[in-house]
Amino acid sequence: MTALFAASLSGDEPYARSRDYDLEHSRIALEFDIGQKKVLGDVTHTLEILKANTGEVVFDSAGLDIRSVTLDRSPAKFASKEDKLIVPLSRPAKPGDKFEIEIKYEARTTKGLYFILPDKNYPERPSQIWTQGESEDTRYYLPIYDYPNDRLTTETILTVPASWTTVANGKLLAVKDAPHGMKTWTWQENLPSSTYLITVVAGEFDELKDSWRGKPVSYYAPRGRGDRLKINYGRTPLMLEYFSKTLGVDYPWEKYSQAMVDDFVAGGMENSSATTNTSTSLVHPLLAPEYTTGQDGLIAHELGHQWFGDLVTTKDWGNIWLNEGFATFMEMLWEEHYFPKDQSEYERWSNARQWLGQASLYEKPIVRRDFSDSSEFDDNSYTKGGWVLYMLRHQIGEQAFYRGLKHYLEANRGKNVVTSDLVKAIEEETHINVDQFFDQWIYGAGAPKFDLAYSYDDSKHQVLLKVRQTQKVEGRVGIFRVPLDVEITTTTGARTYPITVSKAEEAFSFPADGAPLMVLFDQGGHVLKSAEFHKDKKEWLYQAKNASAFADRADAVEELGDIKDDPAVDQTLGDILRHDKAWGVRATAADVLGARGTPAAAKQLLDSLDAATEPWVRNRIAAALGSAKNNPEVIARLETLAKEDKSFRTRAASLQAIGKLKAPGALATLEAAVRADSPDGFLRNAALRAMGPLGDDKAVPTLKEWVVPGKPIESRQAAIASLARLEKNDQAITQEIAGFLGDFPVRMTAIFALGERGDASAVPALEALLGSQDLSIEMAPMIRQQIAKLKNGPAKKPAGGAAEAGGAADQDVAKRLDRMEKLIEEMSARLKSIEDRLPAKQ
Ligand SMILES: [Zn+2]
Repeated sequence: MTALFAASLSGDEPYARSRDYDLEHSRIALEFDIGQKKVLGDVTHTLEILKANTGEVVFDSAGLDIRSVTLDRSPAKFASKEDKLIVPLSRPAKPGDKFEIEIKYEARTTKGLYFILPDKNYPERPSQIWTQGESEDTRYYLPIYDYPNDRLTTETILTVPASWTTVANGKLLAVKDAPHGMKTWTWQENLPSSTYLITVVAGEFDELKDSWRGKPVSYYAPRGRGDRLKINYGRTPLMLEYFSKTLGVDYPWEKYSQAMVDDFVAGGMENSSATTNTSTSLVHPLLAPEYTTGQDGLIAHELGHQWFGDLVTTKDWGNIWLNEGFATFMEMLWEEHYFPKDQSEYERWSNARQWLGQASLYEKPIVRRDFSDSSEFDDNSYTKGGWVLYMLRHQIGEQAFYRGLKHYLEANRGKNVVTSDLVKAIEEETHINVDQFFDQWIYGAGAPKFDLAYSYDDSKHQVLLKVRQTQKVEGRVGIFRVPLDVEITTTTGARTYPITVSKAEEAFSFPADGAPLMVLFDQGGHVLKSAEFHKDKKEWLYQAKNASAFADRADAVEELGDIKDDPAVDQTLGDILRHDKAWGVRATAADVLGARGTPAAAKQLLDSLDAATEPWVRNRIAAALGSAKNNPEVIARLETLAKEDKSFRTRAASLQAIGKLKAPGALATLEAAVRADSPDGFLRNAALRAMGPLGDDKAVPTLKEWVVPGKPIESRQAAIASLARLEKNDQAITQEIAGFLGDFPVRMTAIFALGERGDASAVPALEALLGSQDLSIEMAPMIRQQIAKLKNGPAKKPAGGAAEAGGAADQDVAKRLDRMEKLIEEMSARLKSIEDRLPAKQ
């Protein structure tokens, strides 16, 4: 048990291995025993020896039952040891010697390859088999060299029932009849890529065919959902064109397919020429128009990887930002191009906040080798990595930046890279030295924290700006050197002054023809940073209304939120909510008004509903109203919104607000919403989710009805999270939720639900889960956290049981529950919109 535990939870290898051989080509023939959920494999590897005196060839092979091995077509000995398959060579080989090794094997896979099949609970589910190789899981269904620093071409031969469809890397060569009502599909990939990018998808799918510059582009949905492909995926060819042009390197693969599969373990995975995405990205046609950018974030991310990740691949997991930072940057690139300008500005601004909000990331550099406490697929690789590329482009200019990238892609096409390859390519092409930039942002950790203040000297007509960097200089965090713009606005207009900040404490002076109306530091928000700028209310009010750039107005809106009990502030926030030209600023104003929680703020929110037409602003107003306590007018309006608003997202947010406010008659409203029909049960799920915060134990029978297998997964997740918050003394409920820990699609929800429920009788079930084989590495720390919480018991109640103190403790618990609830929601939202990070890879 302990050994299994340690083995199954060891982290990814941070450094690339030294290689004994070069795997050149694999012919991968797979069949499936569907009843037994078994893969039957026959793989032939062609390889060339790299090291003198090589006596054996070692493959990664985990949990595979090896039946036979041949070496150059003669039967060969072999040994399976831990996660390796060892094939001794007949004589010590020298560099350049070539071998062909064929391996026949079978396996009931626990990872790497998954069977999603109809069963008694979901008899209508289309059959699906899909793989997920990254990071080190290909070895669970294929004996192979399983680390990124080798590349190979493949031929994939899949024999499946005649009514099935298959997708694999490369071109489809043939589909031929096979005995017993089967068909054999042959795919061939002629461009070499790393083994974690190998993919197999097979099953009952609808296909939609498209094309780009004559290359096949196709989309696949589990059978019955083909009508959702066009509305969610239709912009793919436009993206292929824009990325090819902007990068100056055409999309390199022979086709591009996106296969959407049920219960996928990630949001998406950029397998070479054949991306796999979660089927939750197939949003219902009635809901799809309610999302600002639709599924474009996910599509752009995976497509971006086809250049950054697949054509040019990180050599090791320590440099994974070269895959993920770029893919995140490509999302932004597409948003800048296709959507109104404020869309990408909003993303950039909120991404910075998201990263800054994760304190544990601050002290870690982007390139790192220690993954002991968290996965390498963290928000340093993704969000910060994307931001760093944005800053690089801003600082060296678009032209130089894209010339550098083109050279990087061309010089390293078909190769594995580390960060210095990027630095070298930029300098070779543009003669701009970026060493200092990479030292501080990629090899160094953190971001600057500024403390800012200015004074105006009327006699000298001068503004004196004092800049302090207050971050703790320790470990990999240093003092930053950043170029940025200071903008000073007086009654005669705005003037911009470029400066470079580089010291712990310094002062800059600027001419000004009068007292400033507004001073902006890093005008436009082009530096990843946090800042405390000491300004008076008047200036924040002015900035919120008048600053030209999105980030400066949004920053001011947030600052205004801290000025409590002030009618002028409420009024200004309301005006902004109704009139700002950027929807993101308006939505932020709604959030801030919600957090104020006062009657005056609620009035501004109510008065803005008529002006707010976009669902993505309207739903934020409804959510904000959920903080307006004891306000009959708010409740009445929420009831109306929940019942008849045109936007489903607004109706859902209203249902949740009603639950949160514990409104009179709330349970009846929520129960009615559970029973009513909506696209994909969208309103039902919102109502189920709202029953937890409502805290009315009378909701238990309804929730119990919706937690069970057979109900839609999202409804189950919502109901489990809520059920955990009710009838706290009922251990039978605890055990019912613990029973879902083995139920893959709701497992994550059950883990958190048990931790928050606080019933220690769940500990044995959670401990058993820690020992299970199919657990992802990232999930273990989360489970341990919940166990620790349950063992330590709930927060100590003060002695004497003073009602007030007990109330405060309850409030504290409620707050924590809210946060947890939000975390789970965010996770599922990110699962939808972000890709190849497992849900736990937060
Ligand atoms: Zn990615």
